[in-house]
Amino acid sequence: MKSLVAYWKAISYLVRHKWHIFWLCWKTGIPWLGLLHDWSKFLPSEFFTYAQQFHNGGDLNFNTAQLLHHHRNKHHWQWWILVTDKGEEIVLPMPDKYRREMLCDWKAALCIQHPKMTIRDWYAVHEQDMCLHPQTRKWLNRELGFRNTEYVVCSTTALGRAGLIVADDGKVYISR
Ligand SMILES: [Zn+2]
Repeated sequence: MKSLVAYWKAISYLVRHKWHIFWLCWKTGIPWLGLLHDWSKFLPSEFFTYAQQFHNGGDLNFNTAQLLHHHRNKHHWQWWILVTDKGEEIVLPMPDKYRREMLCDWKAALCIQHPKMTIRDWYAVHEQDMCLHPQTRKWLNRELGFRNTEYVVCSTTALGRAGLIVADDGKVYISR
């Protein structure tokens, strides 16, 4: 029963999110991406685990489901990080349509989860957690009205990293 409630909440959230996303993407000239946005969340390999995680208090398989989701959807900045055979990370610039979709995604999520928070405030808090190519970061800063910083400091706390720099060629360095 608890699971059924979780699944229902997940579907209702997804439908509302997709509705917001569609209109935001439409306005920014990428209606098709708005229509297809997060399609993979309806696949069993993502749906059940996401539903348990967010609406039923945690699921051990969430990391796998999240990895699948990031690898299936180019609007996630994580999609654009190449881990080479040597274990190096190269961050690639996001094509314009996907960075637009990413921004719409953040705005749409805020509409439902934190309707009083502005996208600028949200980005100011979370931008340090993202590994973005300098081109992508510059574009985001411009779109959101922030000044560019010289280099990109990324502290992906989830991975236990701090003070990393993404250079113009996408290579990730430790800042000193
Ligand atoms: Zn997504």
